[in-house]
Amino acid sequence: MRASDLKAAVNTQALSIHDHRRELEANRYVYAVLSRRSSGISIGVNLNPDKICNFDCIYCQVDRTSPGKHKKVELPILEDELKEILLKAKSGALYENPPFAGVPEPLRQVKDIAFSGDGEPTTFPHFKKAVEIAIAAKKEAGLDSLKIVVITNATMLHRPGVRQALSLLDAHNGEIWAKLDAGTEDYYRTVDATRIPLKRVLDNILDAARLRPVVIQSLFMRVHGFPPEAGEITAYCDRLREITMKGGKIGLVQIYTVARRPAREYVAPLSDRELDSIAEQVEKIPLTTARFYSNYEI
Ligand code: SF4
Repeated sequence: MRASDLKAAVNTQALSIHDHRRELEANRYVYAVLSRRSSGISIGVNLNPDKICNFDCIYCQVDRTSPGKHKKVELPILEDELKEILLKAKSGALYENPPFAGVPEPLRQVKDIAFSGDGEPTTFPHFKKAVEIAIAAKKEAGLDSLKIVVITNATMLHRPGVRQALSLLDAHNGEIWAKLDAGTEDYYRTVDATRIPLKRVLDNILDAARLRPVVIQSLFMRVHGFPPEAGEITAYCDRLREITMKGGKIGLVQIYTVARRPAREYVAPLSDRELDSIAEQVEKIPLTTARFYSNYEI
């Protein structure tokens, strides 16, 4: 495959903040995606098959017009699915059939297990047990060094069970990717549509980041045609700066815009230039950024 085709293959199966393309349709909880952020295969674990989330982000890709197929997470089934997919990826069987048969050789690597699904994974009451299963499954597959990523809106990181799970992940190559889409309460409520105060998100990110470096994931977009105001981006940078000044370690800030056409027609991507401008302001804090541009134009 030519380089341009390879790029297209990655982009068309791109993973955004919470990616919801599901492969291996027979599975209930475990799926695989070709991920542009990790340039390889990401094994996703969906702990919210009921599609319930404590946020209602206006850019969310989850189709909540129909109910989730499964209401509960049955951990023994999740465990079987995870073990099977890891073994298939390791043996190469994963690449024998569509949709992964066309994946070019350099991308045929499992890069991570990601807790990322149709809602906030840490709201699952047995989150710690799910983490233990993931750790055991990667070990059993001989993929001990595989990264485990928790893609979270940070609202539940204060829960004792979640804190214990994160400590466990610290010892097993875990990473926290925490969502922060705004710098002000007003804009946060506009884009993430939740009753949970921004302060809780910020406090939880700070507490987590004091214990290990965290990755911040931020998605900016046009809402009713308007990009975030300059003051909003200044406030967002101020929040990031405050976290670092209070002893939080931010390893990376991933700056996204809308990757695919969202359900809400008033949400549209930023231009590359607009996204670059936000990233440049974050880099002045200084923090390291990764930029993820849109794949489509309005
Ligand atoms: S937190 Fe994630 S799953 Fe929940 S609404 Fe936002 S994007 Fe969707």
